[in-house]
Amino acid sequence: MDTPRFRDPQTRIDDLVDEPILVVCPRCSRRASVTSERLTCAGCALVRVPPRPDHRVWGGSIDPFFREPLWLRAECCGGNTLWAFHVGHLDLIERFVAATLRERGLGDRPGLTLVARLPSWMTTAKHRAEVLRTIAKLRATLS
Ligand SMILES: [Zn+2]
Repeated sequence: MDTPRFRDPQTRIDDLVDEPILVVCPRCSRRASVTSERLTCAGCALVRVPPRPDHRVWGGSIDPFFREPLWLRAECCGGNTLWAFHVGHLDLIERFVAATLRERGLGDRPGLTLVARLPSWMTTAKHRAEVLRTIAKLRATLS
């Protein structure tokens, strides 16, 4: 985590949904998971299928299939919201924010990569400590 150098792995937001997304269960408010095919909650045994199969709506701190609030989200740096789909996403943000040397990495896929799209409040050096503290707090909710 204290590696100063970060090379962009060229992850796109679409790549993240290969892993289950953690959301707040709409029935019991515990941790549930979402894939393109279903929402499942181990806490209350809720199972739902999406209203439209594999239809994605991207936007802020909700999952793209059911639009439920993400489990990994917290207020950070004066009214901003830090959010992640799952621990792999959180790890990626953490490695980027912790790095003092950020490299674009190799690849010629079109469009901006995930880390290139992170908001400036999150990537500015003066917020590094607070963002990393918030990430640690979110990570603690996963154990
Ligand atoms: Zn539940």
